[in-house]
Amino acid sequence: MELNYSKEELAFRDEVRQLLRDELTPEIIAGNKTTTTALGNNDAAMAWQAILNRRGWAGVAWPKEFGGTGWSSNQRYIFNSECEKAGAPKLIPLGLRMLAPVLFKYGTKEQQDYYLPKMLSAEHYWCQGYSEPGSGSDLASLKTRAERDGDFYVVNGTKIWTTNAHHADHIFCLVKTNPDVKPQAGISFLLIEMNTPGISVEPIITMAGDHEVNQVFFDNVRVPISNIVGPENDGWKVAKYLLEFERGGSSVATRLHVDMAELKMLLDRVEGEDALKGRAKEIGIKISALSQMETDMQSKIARGEKPGAGSSLMKIMASTLGQDISTIKIEAIGNYSLPHNNLLLLNEEVTIGEPEHQTVSAGYLNDRASTVFGGAREVQKNIIAKSVLGL
Ligand SMILES: Cc1cc2nc3c(=O)[nH]c(=O)nc-3n(C[C@H](O)[C@H](O)[C@H](O)COP(=O)(O)OP(=O)(O)OC[C@H]3O[C@@H](n4cnc5c(N)ncnc54)[C@H](O)[C@@H]3O)c2cc1C
Repeated sequence: MELNYSKEELAFRDEVRQLLRDELTPEIIAGNKTTTTALGNNDAAMAWQAILNRRGWAGVAWPKEFGGTGWSSNQRYIFNSECEKAGAPKLIPLGLRMLAPVLFKYGTKEQQDYYLPKMLSAEHYWCQGYSEPGSGSDLASLKTRAERDGDFYVVNGTKIWTTNAHHADHIFCLVKTNPDVKPQAGISFLLIEMNTPGISVEPIITMAGDHEVNQVFFDNVRVPISNIVGPENDGWKVAKYLLEFERGGSSVATRLHVDMAELKMLLDRVEGEDALKGRAKEIGIKISALSQMETDMQSKIARGEKPGAGSSLMKIMASTLGQDISTIKIEAIGNYSLPHNNLLLLNEEVTIGEPEHQTVSAGYLNDRASTVFGGAREVQKNIIAKSVLGL
C-alpha cells in the first residue's frame, strides 16, 4: 500500500529503521526465517520483545496510559511493515494483543497494575485456554468446572490445542461456574498460574512435525477468586471481546506482503509456470485490499471502538490468502518439498535445492490450521451472516 506520509511520519520511519539496523541481530533474523509455525520461533520473538521493551515499544497497539506506544494507525503500519521487511519476528500475541485489550476494558485496577507491565517485559508468558475436546466451534458447551471453596475456585477439566502452553507460565481460561443455566450464562474468565499444583501439559505434535499445541489438564487446581476477570458467570462477553482481537486486531497484510516477495523470488527461478505467476498476481491484489481494511480496523481500535464482525471477514481473508501463497510455493518447488521437510525435522544441513525451499513443505502443512484456529472459517461466515447480513 502506498501512503503519503507526513514529515513527522517519515522521521518516525527513519527512527524505526535505525532501531532495526542497530538492534535486530542476524541470530534473531535467522531464528525467524526457519520458522514454520503460526506464532513463529519463540526464542527469536522473545529476544525481539526484550529489545522493543527497552525502547518502550513492546506495547505496539497499546494506549499510553497502560505503558503502550500510543502510536497512530499510520505509525503502527510503518512500524509493522518496516519490521516485516527487515525480517523481525512477530511478537507473541497471546498476552500483548489478545489478553491485554481485555484487561484494559474488564480488568480491575489491581489486575491492570500487576499483569500489564509483566506482559510488556515478558516476565509473564500467556496461553489461551478456550477450546476443549468436543467444545471448539460450540465453545459455550465447555465443561471445565470451577467450584467455589472459600476464597478459591477449584478447577477440574481439560483444555486442548493450547498453543505454546509448554512455554507459558500463565493461562487465561474459560470455566463453567454455573452448570445449571443456559451455557453462555454460566461461564467465567479466569487467570491461572501454570505452576499451580494440579496442572499438567501434554504435547500434541502436528502433521508438520511441530510441537506448537498441547493439551492442558486441571486436577483440583486452586485459583484465588481475585483472578476472575469481569463478574462471575459473565465471562462469555469477555471471551467474545477477546476473540475479536484475536481475529482482526493485527497487521497480517504486512506479513503477507513479505510472503509474496518470497513467493515471487521462488517463481522467478522456475521456468514457465505462467499459470502460477498469474495466480500469484491475483493474490497480491487481494493482499492490498486486506491491507487497507486492516488500516481502517486499526484506526477504529485506536478510537476505542471494538473490532466487531469485520474481524471475522479479515480472519477469513488473511487465512485464505496465506494458504493460497503456501499452496503455490509447494506447487512451484514440487518434488523438492518433502525431502526438505524431513531434513528440517531432523535438524540436518540442507544439501539439495535452494535454501529457501527448506521451510516450504512444513509451512504448507502448518498453514492448513489457519482456517481452523481462532474460530473455523465456517463459523466466521456464520457470524458475518448473522451480525452483518442479519440472516
Ligand atoms: C494450530 C491450532 C492452534 C490452536 N490454538 C488454540 C489455543 O491456543 N487455544 C484455544 O483455546 N484453542 C486453540 N485452537 C482451537 C481452535 O480454536 C479450534 O480448533 C476451532 O475453534 C475449531 O474447533 P474444533 O477443532 O473443536 O472443531 P469443530 O468445532 O469440531 O469443527 C469441525 C468442523 O465443523 C465445522 N463446523 C462446526 N460448527 C459449525 C457450524 N455451526 N456451521 C458450519 N460448520 C461448522 C467447522 O468449521 C470445522 O470445519 C487451536 C487450533 C489449531 C488447529
